[in-house]
Amino acid sequence: MLLSELRTKESGVIKKINGNGPFRKRIIEMGFVKGQSVKVIKNAPLQDPVEYSIMNYAISLRRSEAALIEVEPLNGKSIAPRYFGTTDFQMPLHVKEHLEKTITIAFVGNPNCGKTSIFNNASRSYEHVGNYSGVTIETKLAKVEYGGYVFNIFDLPGTYSLSSDTPEEIYVRNFLANNTPDVVVNVLDATNLERNLYLTTQLIDMNIRMVIALNMFDEFRKKGDHFNHLSFGALLGVPVVPTVGSKGKGFARLFEAVIAKYNEKEKDRKKIHINYGKDLEDSVKIIEEILSKGDYANYTNESNPRYLALRLLEEDEHIDTRLSATSNFEGIKEVSKKEQKRLRLLFDDEPDTLIADARFGFIAGALRETYQTKNIDRLQYSHKIDKVLTHKYLGIPIFFAFLWLMFTATFTLGQYPVQWIEGGISWLSLITSRIVPQGDFQSLLIDGIIGGVGGVIVFLPNILILFFFISFLEDTGYMARAAFIMDKAMHKIGLHGKSFIPLVMGFGCNVPAIMSTRIIESKSNRMLTMLIMPFMSCSARLPIYILIIGTFFPHYQGTVLFGIYLTGIFLAVISAIIFRKLFFRWENSPFVMELPPYRMATLRNTTRHMWHKGVQYLKKIGGIILVASVIIWGLDYYPKNLQSAKNQANDISIVQGSTLENSSSNSSYLKRIGKSIEPIMKPLGFDWKLTVSILSGVAGKELVVSTMGVLYNNEKGKGDSLGGRIKNDKYEQGPMKGMSVVTPIVALSFLMFTLVYFPCMAVIATIAKEGNSILWAFFMIFYTTGLAWIMSWGVYNIGSLFVN
Ligand code: GDP
Ligand code: MG
Repeated sequence: MLLSELRTKESGVIKKINGNGPFRKRIIEMGFVKGQSVKVIKNAPLQDPVEYSIMNYAISLRRSEAALIEVEPLNGKSIAPRYFGTTDFQMPLHVKEHLEKTITIAFVGNPNCGKTSIFNNASRSYEHVGNYSGVTIETKLAKVEYGGYVFNIFDLPGTYSLSSDTPEEIYVRNFLANNTPDVVVNVLDATNLERNLYLTTQLIDMNIRMVIALNMFDEFRKKGDHFNHLSFGALLGVPVVPTVGSKGKGFARLFEAVIAKYNEKEKDRKKIHINYGKDLEDSVKIIEEILSKGDYANYTNESNPRYLALRLLEEDEHIDTRLSATSNFEGIKEVSKKEQKRLRLLFDDEPDTLIADARFGFIAGALRETYQTKNIDRLQYSHKIDKVLTHKYLGIPIFFAFLWLMFTATFTLGQYPVQWIEGGISWLSLITSRIVPQGDFQSLLIDGIIGGVGGVIVFLPNILILFFFISFLEDTGYMARAAFIMDKAMHKIGLHGKSFIPLVMGFGCNVPAIMSTRIIESKSNRMLTMLIMPFMSCSARLPIYILIIGTFFPHYQGTVLFGIYLTGIFLAVISAIIFRKLFFRWENSPFVMELPPYRMATLRNTTRHMWHKGVQYLKKIGGIILVASVIIWGLDYYPKNLQSAKNQANDISIVQGSTLENSSSNSSYLKRIGKSIEPIMKPLGFDWKLTVSILSGVAGKELVVSTMGVLYNNEKGKGDSLGGRIKNDKYEQGPMKGMSVVTPIVALSFLMFTLVYFPCMAVIATIAKEGNSILWAFFMIFYTTGLAWIMSWGVYNIGSLFVN
């Protein structure tokens, strides 16, 4: 019987895993091994994928993938695997004498076990934490001092094992081999030991100095189970220290254990290896022997022969490339092949499966001796919550309702603090105009700096609120559910459920979101996700929307805002379909994704996240936006000869002032630039000021508003809000003289344009880098800008039909 044939609530015991190598490896490392019981929890709202429970955690698989797993419909009883315990390890080890007071440590562990939380709380860093896998995508380094030592701590991406060929696993392995940390801290999720310990068995095989952080100890306590972690640690020869990463508990002991490990004398060190049973051990010994006859140690840092032998049995391409230059590589391969064949004949199974079975067998055995469970399903609350959130009919509407709430709250809650800041800025302008004498310098301060920077800074509250919501989505574990709910729909547009997480993050900022597409295994899916990312309207565009919507559509603010975001999503969908048809071959990759238990978002993490975003935003304002505002001001203020006339004009009236604008040689540089591009933008209803604002947004979307702040500051109507000044802007010449420049239709067209056009330099650069393609980056520039023009043209022209 196949796993896919089990119905909801039914259980089965795994007999065999079919399917190709990568899929099998992936699924094995997540605990799908012979004898384990699996239970069907529920179908996603669109019937696919399906949520299963195995080893007391939840995982989502597509039906097509579940069909690769053979089960027996035994009711829920796992079959106890064989257990051989450990053996003392005789291999002498060459480790450097530890005289220095600097210890390099690396955090290695499953995704979502709390590595980054420990890292952040130990070092007061602000790295991204979230309750789903794939949050950490790059190595982060922090320095911490403790007990007279300096620790260089590396936070690595999470991995379930070190044997499959996913980018993260290769990355972590290379890191361990090339950077040889003094001590590895293996972080475990204490509530999910059975699966988490799989990686531990591999680390033990590598024979590295290691300390185990038994994290999530608070959740473990709540479960009421009993774990004798000390005797477990003694069995493995690895110290085990309970920690609570999110609350910063247990760190002192953890660091002490690391120091003790670091200073441990070689002779005191308990060296064990895991006994995989006679047949496997025989093969390992034979391969070890042939290895030791050659010069393999010159070619790899992963030089523990036992580990290499296991790897060769598992048929690991990565090790093959590393060893391929050794003098007796042919011989090594030949012997490994022979041993593989022997094992295959003996057990009628693949050697990698046999090794994995033996590892899980060891884990089960070791836990049997040290762990008593009350068999409380730690996921019972999560399942209850999911009854609603991933409900067949309600699941998808709830998701969109949440998005609506997010954007509406961003708007309405933000309004009040925005008004206070606005008030503060007007006051500052006023004071400055009193203190600083009239002239260039005053104009620089008031029109350039306060106008530009102030124009953007007022939106800080909105941005913080938006990030609050995104952070909440990430911390609770809902993100993984969103991917689960949407997988099938995403499939329809040629994408993958996992693409969904980066896309939602894109509402915050496209740059990290594009980087987080690394969680997507398939190359073409990943590229496609990057290409539609710019349509996920980022928070830097928020000030534009809020400014324009607040001014022109005061009665439907939340709805218009939500509509803009929906339009972005819609364009993303359409583009995905087109790109898939035109450029990418359909490449299906498995949807093996853990559904973490729901966790209450901690105030600590959320506020920290918000605070960090706020600081980043302010830094950006103090940097690029300040500089750009001054430049824009300069281009708008000079050439100088115009200025005296302009000042007078401001004091008289717009109509008279306009006569001064007649000859273009008499205009500011900025106006000349704007005027020269204006013809292209005229069909969209934009005048030169809107055009220039759009142009400056190429460097960063915040600059659109800061540029408007500078441009519209020269106008009559000082004291009005920026929105008010934009609304009152009139054509000064030509056939439309005296009419409003920015009508509601123009405003809508402007919103459309800013939604769609050129993402920003940073995004283009990130696409080029992450997608490893300058071509795609250029393509994005033209595609988005071209599409923006067409969309805005449509809005303006169709809209004008109705209004006039
Ligand atoms: P990583 O993927 O291993 O880096 O894990 P993160 O540090 O991103 O944490 C994953 C999730 O677990 C986040 O929601 C954290 O807030 C939460 N978390 C981390 N450590 C603990 C802990 O000790 N106890 C509890 N209850 N939650 C934790
Ligand atoms: Mg992390």
